[in-house]
Amino acid sequence: MAQATKTPAKGYAAHSATSPLEAWEFERRAPRPDDVSIDILYCGVCHSDLHFARDDWGMASYPVVPGHEIVGRVTSVGDQVSQYQVGDLVGVGCMVDSCRQCKACNDGLENYCAEGFVMTYGSPDKHDGTLTQGGYSDKVVVSERFVVRMPDGIDLKSAAPILCAGITTYSPLKHYGVKPGDKVGIIGMGGLGHMGVKLAKALGAEVTLFTRSESKKAEAKQQGADHVVISTSEDEMGAITETFDFMLDTVPVQHDINPYLNALKPDGTHILVGLLEPLDPAVSGANLVFRRRVLAGSLIGGMPETQEVLDFCAENGITCDVEMISIDQINEAWERMQKGDVKYRFVIDMASIKES
Ligand SMILES: [Zn+2]
Ligand SMILES: [Zn+2]
Repeated sequence: MAQATKTPAKGYAAHSATSPLEAWEFERRAPRPDDVSIDILYCGVCHSDLHFARDDWGMASYPVVPGHEIVGRVTSVGDQVSQYQVGDLVGVGCMVDSCRQCKACNDGLENYCAEGFVMTYGSPDKHDGTLTQGGYSDKVVVSERFVVRMPDGIDLKSAAPILCAGITTYSPLKHYGVKPGDKVGIIGMGGLGHMGVKLAKALGAEVTLFTRSESKKAEAKQQGADHVVISTSEDEMGAITETFDFMLDTVPVQHDINPYLNALKPDGTHILVGLLEPLDPAVSGANLVFRRRVLAGSLIGGMPETQEVLDFCAENGITCDVEMISIDQINEAWERMQKGDVKYRFVIDMASIKES
């Protein structure tokens, strides 16, 4: 039975764009009939958490408890919940609600909801207007539709980042029909890029990682990349003209995509998943027009596909490479993440918040 009252919760929150994350006590909403209450076990640390809290995208609200790679255990369910029971291991990703009525929502593409989806943190709740708060916390209350099941036997710690980094890279690979034998380039070797390498390999592609640094060559091979190209080398980039079917571009800062377009075969597709800013330098229309190439974008994935990628990872033995931290190490972890000093995702062990 659903509890009728709000629940006290502990989290780590940012109170302004410049303040560090600090312990904060708040309340989770009184569960609604379709809600699942979850004790959080682990939460991945995504670059978006930092961008949002630092107001880099001009959409921040405070206080904010970041975190949208949540794994936990169900502690109670509302009367209308049919998929989950107390004790189930579940996940919550980047979304906690949507309009549930538009074409995108009906197609299971809540990530493209016409009204915009409700983000796991920093969005007004559709019912009571309170700000949603994320997974750097001990518990969360989420509508069943936005909960996924952790597959049996999956390592929960290293599976947490699949809920953002995994689905973000899996969804476009599936949507554009990457198949065995396709040549796929993955640009960037961070949290997204290393998952992109593993997922594209598991789909049967021949995978090339593009990186600026020579030092990442060995790492990329370890992750399963068949080839590595140093993107700053004119020789190496010149040798791959018109050889790729797809480019999955995970770089979150402005960069010149023209050399990558020229590395695509005719009809090849370049997919942006990390960049939200204007393309600079500009894209030459000729690089698209003369070879009928496609420039595309993709944002996380819908709820059915989020379940699918978890199941796919469990079946194929794919996990994220993670470094575990306690909640009181979060500010240091954010500093290191900004320098790219993590292989490849921090995950918070939420047992540490109960002790703090
Ligand atoms: Zn994320
Ligand atoms: Zn919708």
